[in-house]
Amino acid sequence: MRPLSFSQPSSNLLTINSDLFRCFGTDSADYRIYPATDYFIEAFDVHTYLAWLGRRKSGYLRRPLSLYVHIPFCSSLCYFCHCNQIVSQDSDTIENYLNYLSREIRLQGRYLKNDPRVEQIYFGGGTPTVLEEPQLHSLMQDIRQHFNLIEPGEFSIEIDSRLMANRSMQALKEIGFNSAIIGVQDFDRSVQQSIHRNQTEEETLHAIRDARLAGFKTIRVELIFGLPNQTVEKFAYTLGKIIASSPNQIYLTNYNYSPEKFKAQRHIDQTNLPASETSQEMQILAINQLLEAGYVHIGMNYYAQKDHSLTQAQRQGRLHYGLQGYSVYPESDHIAMGVSAIGSIGPALSQNHCDLSKYYDSIERDILPVMRGIEPSADDLVRRSVMQALICHSVLIFESVETFFPIDFKRYFATELQELLFYERAGLITLDDEEVTVTPKGQLFIGNICKVFDKYLRNRRQRLNHSTLI
Ligand code: SF4
Repeated sequence: MRPLSFSQPSSNLLTINSDLFRCFGTDSADYRIYPATDYFIEAFDVHTYLAWLGRRKSGYLRRPLSLYVHIPFCSSLCYFCHCNQIVSQDSDTIENYLNYLSREIRLQGRYLKNDPRVEQIYFGGGTPTVLEEPQLHSLMQDIRQHFNLIEPGEFSIEIDSRLMANRSMQALKEIGFNSAIIGVQDFDRSVQQSIHRNQTEEETLHAIRDARLAGFKTIRVELIFGLPNQTVEKFAYTLGKIIASSPNQIYLTNYNYSPEKFKAQRHIDQTNLPASETSQEMQILAINQLLEAGYVHIGMNYYAQKDHSLTQAQRQGRLHYGLQGYSVYPESDHIAMGVSAIGSIGPALSQNHCDLSKYYDSIERDILPVMRGIEPSADDLVRRSVMQALICHSVLIFESVETFFPIDFKRYFATELQELLFYERAGLITLDDEEVTVTPKGQLFIGNICKVFDKYLRNRRQRLNHSTLI
């Protein structure tokens, strides 16, 4: 896809009003994965996974590697959680898991031994920082032993500030991490109580300061609006404090309340959730304050300071977007390790067993713990590349797509182009005979624009309409 230069006319964004959010909503799919995990199938098993690894080995796919390491344990359950987590601090349980995880790293390394170049690592969870430094060090040692870490890479870890009071970010830096992801919800006590996560302002600000002192090149703070008991004033206070602490990346997201899908959320008292108008107000306030403070909107809820590598890559049309969000590194294959972890080899997506005993059992038999996955169809791949162009470059040139895929773009996407007229009238895109360009306002709704190209969503809606008619 043709890379394009990009400028950020932030002044336009400052004029957004609530009508757009009323019309398009504050939440949207993030499209890190397409097709979504709901469409993964168990017929994609370890043999399919190994076949894709084989293609990589034979030189058919020669991309660098990105490693994802899942640490599922958490010290307590946050009620807003939508992750695969296990609430336990039992040292034997954790040691046992680390033992199997280390074996999985070895197994994966064995299959990749001819080409183990790693440019990115992401320790996610759960809570990676429930592990003590020697445990994290040992995992990183395993990785270094079986993979070839390319410096300077991007080696990230999710930080729970509550666990960092008596620990130092310098120690994490020495283990090899250079990017810290710090979750912050709201500093207000009543919000924290309703989501069962007490994390003091001082704990959070200390973690940010300490990460900066230790020389972390990325410090990303993740903020959520739309939580129970949250108000515009409370959120504005939290936001102001975070902006003043100057992390170089901020991820701002709407709370996705789906208790039917995420068990933890059934503890939330729905009557405490703010009205959608209040959530919209919080989002507009946050966007305006972030832009006024000099942050640049990268897309898909990511904001970065002007001198951050993401912002530079955006200007130069070098952004990539995948399983771990935006990246300045070339497209890579994601080797996912740990229970429930999701990865990709070439176009294929896979997920490890979500059940600990099945995960252990598989490794016990020296078999990679692949539970399910998907080999995308040709149609999935066209749509994925269309979404990538919109998300990374804010422009979709029909001819570029036709260069890579044997389609007549305007005929293939006739329905979608028709639907996009609605977005054009709303000022979110411009549309002509050759391309779709996303306007600065439209970049705030890029997930909605991608939804137009989501075939699975379209089919589901059609099925629902059909069953309603019957
Ligand atoms: S939000 Fe994070 S820390 Fe809280 S339960 Fe979920 S994974 Fe654990």
